[in-house]
Amino acid sequence: MSLKGKLIARIHLSGPITVGDYMTDCLLHPEFGYYTTRDPLGQAGDFTTAPEISQMFGELIGLSLAQAWVDQGQPAKFTLAELGPGRGTLMADLLRATRGVAGFHAAMDLCLIEASPTLRDKQAKALESYTPRWLDAVSDLPDQPLFLVANEFFDALPIRQFVRKDAGWAERLIGLDEGKLHFGLGSPGAQPALAHRLDDTSDGDLVELCAAALTVIDVIGTRIAAHGGAALIVDYGDWRSLGDTLQALTDHAPVDPLETPGAADLTAHVDFEPLCHAARAANCAHSKVTPQGMFLERLGITQRAQALAQPLSGAALNDLIQAHRRLTHPEEMGNLFKVLGLFPVRGTPPPGLDP
Ligand code: SAH
Repeated sequence: MSLKGKLIARIHLSGPITVGDYMTDCLLHPEFGYYTTRDPLGQAGDFTTAPEISQMFGELIGLSLAQAWVDQGQPAKFTLAELGPGRGTLMADLLRATRGVAGFHAAMDLCLIEASPTLRDKQAKALESYTPRWLDAVSDLPDQPLFLVANEFFDALPIRQFVRKDAGWAERLIGLDEGKLHFGLGSPGAQPALAHRLDDTSDGDLVELCAAALTVIDVIGTRIAAHGGAALIVDYGDWRSLGDTLQALTDHAPVDPLETPGAADLTAHVDFEPLCHAARAANCAHSKVTPQGMFLERLGITQRAQALAQPLSGAALNDLIQAHRRLTHPEEMGNLFKVLGLFPVRGTPPPGLDP
């Protein structure tokens, strides 16, 4: 039976499911999950991420984290971690760029948190000259200084959606209509986690909650507060979203999120406000939420592009210019994508970010 068939049977038997339960099954079902069963990245896949556009992305992230490590007195043992490393491209670029940082590689314990066996295999190949270990959950991160990156990881975490009804909220659920998957609404009720959204919404507005993101930030923030370190979180979204941001992509184009469960990528915009609150609740400081273009420019992406351009001409030079533009231009990824840094209270944010 297909995943769609299984979902329909389950809803038939026990009633409508939340958008979060639907996302979890679609992305990570052990047999049919989107990430479990394929490598979705790149031109031949369904979407392209910043590290797959250019090596400059991972290099500059690496130099920012390595400088944060130096600024914190070069702890002799630390975790270098990535959440959702995809093909391992970002980490490979990060490690190559930081080879010259004395002591950095010798001190690192390289940990990857990846749910997909298919992508774990890709990461093992991309990083075969290092000795990464894979962890199943952030809670398995060792108790030591933590330097961490997550690019397009939080957008894959399950969200729940709620529609404002007077002073309460009705959850958007997935049920059946004439045997087909169909969006509907549960009964309205109070939602303490959405109290602050009563100020900027009116009847009928839809807002989203991502509880899993808060758990992840709590664990990372607690490690950084206790042992030192820094985290760079890069994703598309803004301070808080309004409206339905659930998006399904197949072959680089949007599709109906209920049409092909398990065969399309499902994401939602990341709300950075609750991430900042979760960091502060864990006694961890956070930077301003900074547009990706500004972050990369501050780290010298244009100078790096000029250096890489030196030996190039023709199509290769044009590709490099296009890559620089895609990563930084406000009409491309430069503004839609944001960077949030976490760092110890009384410390400074990783380079590229303001406190
Ligand atoms: N960071 C990579 C890949 C982004 S795609 C890049 O920028 O190219 C999202 C990644 O997160 C994939 O590697 C996916 O398998 C992983 N992922 C999604 N949900 C996860 C979860 N709950 N736990 C661990 N990994 C997850």
